[in-house]
Amino acid sequence: MRLLDLEFEDLEVARLYESEPQYDREQPRFLNTVVRLRTSLGPLALLERLLAIERALGRERDAARPKGPRTLDLDLLLYRDWVVRHPRLVVPHPGISERVFVLLPLLELCPRAYNPETGRRYRDDLDRLTLEGIYPIDG
Ligand code: ADP
Ligand code: MG
Repeated sequence: MRLLDLEFEDLEVARLYESEPQYDREQPRFLNTVVRLRTSLGPLALLERLLAIERALGRERDAARPKGPRTLDLDLLLYRDWVVRHPRLVVPHPGISERVFVLLPLLELCPRAYNPETGRRYRDDLDRLTLEGIYPIDG
């Protein structure tokens, strides 16, 4: 299976950020980034592709610790300016506004990104948070 195929175009990748665990704190740091891309896939098909990539790369996690260590987690943050409420998919991803490790790389790629449901700019969410426990990896 090809992981990045013709369904994904014009990929842009933000810097990598090392971040201290925010929820379940007794674990090593995470590596986070955000990717922006063009795709012919609709949001549910895109989610399925992301989950298939997780499986193909051997995603491992401890079911007893949902916010604990995992080898890979691909989440769908935003899809155009759509609002999706589906049993398997919620867009915009509900965690964006409280997560510096999402907001920083997201705003690198999309400085004017906003929550299409509330109209609130993610820049304003970031301005309310402290930039602690997050370390950009340059280069
Ligand atoms: P988490 O990302 O919260 O650590 P998982 O990666 O195990 O947890 O995701 C669990 C489920 O969350 C997925 O099977 C998927 O159906 C659902 N889900 C709902 N909305 C989204 C989204 N925006 N991005 C990714 N998964 C989502
Ligand atoms: Mg996930």
